[in-house]
Amino acid sequence: MEDLQEKKLIRDAATCGYCEMKTYGGVRYPTRDIFGNQYQVVQCDYCQAWSLHPRPDEALLRKAYDTSYYGETEKKFSFPLVEDILDWFRDGRARKLLKFVKENDNVLDIGCGNGHFLQSLLKYRKVNIFGVELPGKSAERAARVPGINLKTGSLEMDDFQPVSLHAITLFHVFEHLTAPSSTLDIIDRILMKGGVLIISFPNIGSWQSRIFKGDWLHLDPPRHLFFFTPKDFIALMQKRGYRLLSEKYGSPEQNPFGMVQSILNLFTRKREVLFEELKGNKSYTAEYQGFLMFLQKLFFFVSFPVFMVTNFISAIFKKGATVEFVFQKSN
Ligand SMILES: [Zn+2]
Repeated sequence: MEDLQEKKLIRDAATCGYCEMKTYGGVRYPTRDIFGNQYQVVQCDYCQAWSLHPRPDEALLRKAYDTSYYGETEKKFSFPLVEDILDWFRDGRARKLLKFVKENDNVLDIGCGNGHFLQSLLKYRKVNIFGVELPGKSAERAARVPGINLKTGSLEMDDFQPVSLHAITLFHVFEHLTAPSSTLDIIDRILMKGGVLIISFPNIGSWQSRIFKGDWLHLDPPRHLFFFTPKDFIALMQKRGYRLLSEKYGSPEQNPFGMVQSILNLFTRKREVLFEELKGNKSYTAEYQGFLMFLQKLFFFVSFPVFMVTNFISAIFKKGATVEFVFQKSN
């Protein structure tokens, strides 16, 4: 009864952060963030966006993106091998984009991080590279990429000439945006007809999401703000005049670890303990050091190969934990 009342209260009070309509029909499940704050994961009746209620405010987001997010050291992960593997995946994405761009084309990576993706693109083809990244250590690293045109800050409507870009990429950035609809409006304006948009984000319709609900790694509250099921997102983009060229649901980079960490989240009071440990965030994981951390790492090494297999299976059924779309602007 109390539960029902709470759901009604949320429906009455909340406005969808994506479409600004007062249309919260679905209160799906509770979750907690890395600071212990409680939320309800809600879905808008009108635009189908999933989001956190209450909406994390600016102060909380600033705290969540504090240095711990990208690690204290130069590299994001404290294990050098992890970073090398990530570089290999970034390289794979560059090769994927090559199918769609020619020499001297303009390529924009929104949320370009340290700029390694744009840098690896240049290894294969001489394109003009543009990056946008919020101020911080990643942006400082990106600024050192040879040939990059970097904007430090958020993407704004007049940063680029209309229809001036041949390709735009957002790799695991969309879910972080506080105003994702405005970002898509900007993309609509600056991407040229026939240009491609590669966009990846957590799949809220995945098996992992459905099994683990509030404990799912890729829910990542409060940093991840908006989610769409693949079906709803494709419909949204088609309405905006895009054609779906390809969709990919398998990601050995994201999905097996999603299984490992989501299972661990069922057993620990704090969420994402192993993930923070691997990033070198020792203050967050202090209370788990010793035997408890050993057990978590052991579970990681033993179960990872199994979850590499489930990654492929879930991808076949389009239920993988993350999705990567290639859209082409058709008008
Ligand atoms: Zn909405």
